[in-house]
Amino acid sequence: MDMNIVELENYFVSLNEKKFKALQVFEWLYIHREKDINNFSNLKKELRDKLKNDFKYDFITIKKYETGKDVKKYLFELSDHNYVEAVLMYHDYGKSVCISSQVGCNMGCKFCESGRLKKVRNLETYEMVEQILLIEEDIKDRIQRIVIMGIGEPFDNYDNVINFLRIVNHPKGLGIGARHITVSTCGLVPKIKEFSDLDLQVNLALSLHAPNDTIRNKIMPISKVYTISQVMDAIKEYLAKNNRRVTIEYVMLNMVNDSDECAYELASLLKGLNVYVNLIPYNETNNLDFKKSQRINEFKDILLKMGINATVRREFGGSISAACGQLRSKEV
Ligand code: SAH
Repeated sequence: MDMNIVELENYFVSLNEKKFKALQVFEWLYIHREKDINNFSNLKKELRDKLKNDFKYDFITIKKYETGKDVKKYLFELSDHNYVEAVLMYHDYGKSVCISSQVGCNMGCKFCESGRLKKVRNLETYEMVEQILLIEEDIKDRIQRIVIMGIGEPFDNYDNVINFLRIVNHPKGLGIGARHITVSTCGLVPKIKEFSDLDLQVNLALSLHAPNDTIRNKIMPISKVYTISQVMDAIKEYLAKNNRRVTIEYVMLNMVNDSDECAYELASLLKGLNVYVNLIPYNETNNLDFKKSQRINEFKDILLKMGINATVRREFGGSISAACGQLRSKEV
């Protein structure tokens, strides 16, 4: 269902019903995992019928999955026969799921497979929640962490993504702590600013991928809309309002952004900010020309020497095309 708890409470109040009915609905949906509104037995029949009329209560299905080492990739079919993917990862600290937020993507990052299909539509809130519910049902276990780093730009589907966050974070929803959830954006400045004012302690990650506009312009079309200095100002605003460390994602592309000069320039751009750099080994795809950089450790060492926290992202799922930037909105 597409409503967060506050909207659902307001809905019941507008019907002259008690607010707590919203919590009961949440319990049916997310604790009992009941799919048939007729079985919401503590709501009277008129109310159940009204709910059925007033809400979209649709489902997505697992079309297929593939497994690799510590990873399982799911292809979901939506009710209008579009497709998205999500990835379950087993870490030593628990299970995390990387979910998609749109069918296709309009950001057009040159190195990313997901954007080769232009955006078809935004995912509805329930379509994001269901990715998690279906995976939990499949593995008969709970997941501990969520990253919104699959297909799509979450801040280009802002309202539904925020609704999703409220549902998964709510104790009567999926009860996943905000600190265990990360939203990644390619840098939509107005939305980063909106996100800064939100009363949710969800982690923010920025896909920066270049230390200057010249390089960023070559690989990320969004940088023609928002310059690095505008993006970094928005990040500074976020940091000033939230006491949360921001992740800077930096995909290491051979001969594009992996030189020593780039590392020094990145270090001076980030100096003094409460951020850490997550260096992403590039996952090559058959369709795109970029090559994986072999200089990740040298690059990391320069950042560390310059006082910038840096880690290298663990490589997951490459063998089944389930790694960063390899997910697609396609059946085959
Ligand atoms: N649109 C959002 C969410 C996608 S997150 C964003 O841009 O942040 C997926 C991350 O993987 C992004 O940092 C993206 O730039 C990166 N990525 C894309 N293609 C990749 C590839 N082939 N190899 C490694 N990382 C890639």
